[in-house]
Amino acid sequence: MGEKDIKRKCIACNSLKSRDELVKITINNKKEIKVMPDSKFFGRSAYICKNDKCLETAFKKDKIYKILKTKPAEDLKEKIRAVLEN
Ligand SMILES: [Zn+2]
Repeated sequence: MGEKDIKRKCIACNSLKSRDELVKITINNKKEIKVMPDSKFFGRSAYICKNDKCLETAFKKDKIYKILKTKPAEDLKEKIRAVLEN
């Protein structure tokens, strides 16, 4: 089983899905946050299903920021939404 077959859990609905069904958000040790980072960007990651419902749930009560252990970033939700719309 390759790396790509590993299932990741959506932080909103807790369902296990393959990587291509999820948006990956990673924060590195410099507190830089990237949406769909390349393989050279390392850090704590969170995954969200590619739908608005899970996106909204992930941001409720700053859940995503608690998981990423950082302060709320104004533009993060919009960056994720841009990925959903592509
Ligand atoms: Zn989900």
